[in-house]
Amino acid sequence: MEILVMGAGVGGLAVARGLLAAGHRVRVFERAPGWRTGGAAVMIFSNGTAVLDDLGVSLDGVGARIDRIDALTSGGRLRTSQNIAHAAERYGFLTKVVSRRRLLERLADGLPGDLVEYGRECRGVEQDGRRVTATFGDGTAATGDLLVGADGHHSAVRARLWGEGSVAPATFGTWQGLSPIDVEVTRSHTNLMITGREGACGLMPAGEGLLQWWFDVRWTPSDPRPADPLADMRRRFGHWASPVPEVLAAAPEGDLAFFGHHWNKVRRVWGEGRVTLVGDAAHIMPPTLGQGANQTLEDAWVLGRELAKGGDPVERLRAYERARYPHVSLVSRMARRNPANWRIPPMIGRLFPETSQTAMLARFSNRLTALAA
Ligand SMILES: Cc1cc2nc3c(=O)[nH]c(=O)nc-3n(C[C@H](O)[C@H](O)[C@H](O)COP(=O)(O)OP(=O)(O)OC[C@H]3O[C@@H](n4cnc5c(N)ncnc54)[C@H](O)[C@@H]3O)c2cc1C
Repeated sequence: MEILVMGAGVGGLAVARGLLAAGHRVRVFERAPGWRTGGAAVMIFSNGTAVLDDLGVSLDGVGARIDRIDALTSGGRLRTSQNIAHAAERYGFLTKVVSRRRLLERLADGLPGDLVEYGRECRGVEQDGRRVTATFGDGTAATGDLLVGADGHHSAVRARLWGEGSVAPATFGTWQGLSPIDVEVTRSHTNLMITGREGACGLMPAGEGLLQWWFDVRWTPSDPRPADPLADMRRRFGHWASPVPEVLAAAPEGDLAFFGHHWNKVRRVWGEGRVTLVGDAAHIMPPTLGQGANQTLEDAWVLGRELAKGGDPVERLRAYERARYPHVSLVSRMARRNPANWRIPPMIGRLFPETSQTAMLARFSNRLTALAA
């Protein structure tokens, strides 16, 4: 089949890889004028690395392996500790933090050089029962058998399918950066999640001497942005226990970017006819569980498997959405409750099993469920 993919982020490239390998003709249309090099780093859990492995994508030599996630109080006391290496042993796939730039490089590695058509912003989608046509901001159009909207948070394809207003702001946003900050956690295999009255701070090693650092703060879209965000972070969080003050002292202003988070209720049916969605276009959620990109990779994996079954492609698209629904809707509901930022008292946190993330990952994942079956 000839398949049109809107968006060349994590989802668009993963979908293209899988469908090209299955012998389909694929064209990817990206609004941006070129390759995305920013966007800091993402945590790819065992479910995501398993999908990447199936797509022939290796993260060897990039990013940092994560073995533990420790949640701390702002005073430095341990709230909970999660043994992430246990999931790697159970499923055979590591958890890694990798910069978005490296992840996209690896996803694009080996794909045809002219696969992605940059500067092509999808503005409209029409279908007539046999073919589907995308129209672009430059007045051009492309026609194929199927269309996949992988155009992220502000998806034009989703707006066409669901109308405007289907996504709502969450209650908080993140100031984050990816910087060469030489503190112990940068050289470790541990992700620190620190929570206090003022908000939350996350620190994780991202390889190549880089630290992914972020601060979650309460937010509504009408909030004015601070004139000097780094000074604002230092004022709010600078009195927390080490290493927060050291990170704030070393953090370069230019690396700081803000993301206000959004959420939509995951639908049982995402698409219509010959059109479907993957990734944030279908299920935007706050990044508290670090599963957004992982769920996007899961979408690409299931979509590829469904289309490989042959038969009516429209029915295959709906089967893909049905297969993803129970897993991604669970992740989405949990991410909305924001458990990573809960201030669990250390006395209670000690009672939590260290390996609970392992079983939870299988519940989040079509890929790991298939592995276990
Ligand atoms: C602060 C923050 C931290 C995060 N941390 C993690 C994490 O640790 N782990 C994790 O798994 N996930 C994380 N996520 C979520 C993750 O980044 C997303 O879920 C993931 O990038 C979704 O991939 P996507 O391909 O759907 O969208 P994107 O990666 O956003 O790609 C969409 C692409 O479509 C293009 N596009 C947009 N509109 C159009 C159009 N009209 N026509 C053509 N192209 C278009 C865009 O330019 C972009 O290239 C985080 C998100 C944020 C904001």
